[in-house]
Amino acid sequence: MVLAQLGGSITRALQQMTNATVIDEKVFNDCLNEINRALLQSDVQFKLVQDMHTNIKKIVNLQDLAAGHDKRKIIQQAVFNELCKMLDPGKSSFVPKKGKTSVVMFVGLQGSGKTTTCTKYAHYYQKKGWKPALVCADTFRAGAFDQLKQNATKAKIPFYGSNYCIAVPSFLYSYMESDPVKIAVEGVERFKEENRDLIIVDTSGRHKQEAALFEEMRQVSEATKPDLVIFVMDSSIGQAAFDQAQAFKQSVAVGAVIITKMDGHAKGGGSLSAVAATKSPVIFIGTGEHMDEFEVFEVKPFVSRLLG
Ligand code: GDP
Repeated sequence: MVLAQLGGSITRALQQMTNATVIDEKVFNDCLNEINRALLQSDVQFKLVQDMHTNIKKIVNLQDLAAGHDKRKIIQQAVFNELCKMLDPGKSSFVPKKGKTSVVMFVGLQGSGKTTTCTKYAHYYQKKGWKPALVCADTFRAGAFDQLKQNATKAKIPFYGSNYCIAVPSFLYSYMESDPVKIAVEGVERFKEENRDLIIVDTSGRHKQEAALFEEMRQVSEATKPDLVIFVMDSSIGQAAFDQAQAFKQSVAVGAVIITKMDGHAKGGGSLSAVAATKSPVIFIGTGEHMDEFEVFEVKPFVSRLLG
């Protein structure tokens, strides 16, 4: 079930309740159960669904509602608020300032869309007149540097990394080095000297959550002292989202989340779980492979759209 379907199912459940002549406990419970089912089918973590259910029941006490209260409206509002709460950790992430150097480190599993998203993020700010730069600290995956280089060149963004004897224009830096920590530090320092205001560090991923990956992330983070760590997650990750996001959060100070491949057929509910696991807001979503297929994420408009 893609997110649009989730929205549709919730809206239908609310509509069914609205169509009932009288809203009694049974109608209310049927509606909530339908919403629970839709959320679970969309891979939202069971505990989150349970919490949402409990909260709505607490907020909407049908017996206490005096006659004249619009029960439908109150229930609809409670559902809307709870969905927003799921996606809103209650604190905003670090916001880089134009003209002042910020270091932003990207983490995530291999294939999550991390490298693509680094360029999208850089491109987004570059369009607004910032001076971003990309550092490829992924020496694990063969071709990672080439990919970042290709993307960066297309977007006309300076980059730094290690590869094997590839001739590059003089304003770009490239050499042979396999220590990701060293590359990250050198890249960040180089771009700081050049007064780049957004230095983006792409780190390596693994297919699975492995101790080696987390250790490497920790070291890169310790050495580069990022102002913000962004966790990149593939929206199709499903029920594994909560545990995966939590594992990353436990290793580095994740401060924001970007969900990729929202254009695909993913159920998408994992994004709700990732917010809960990292207690960090989703700041952007990826909606395609192209550099411009990248949207700022805002909770209320998103939930409004979701519910039609
Ligand atoms: P990494 O291993 O995490 O660095 O992942 P990549 O950046 O190499 O991305 C893996 C694949 O996902 C590539 O084919 C990307 O083009 C694709 N990809 C990344 N973001 C999106 C997105 O938002 N939508 C779609 N459809 N594909 C994406």
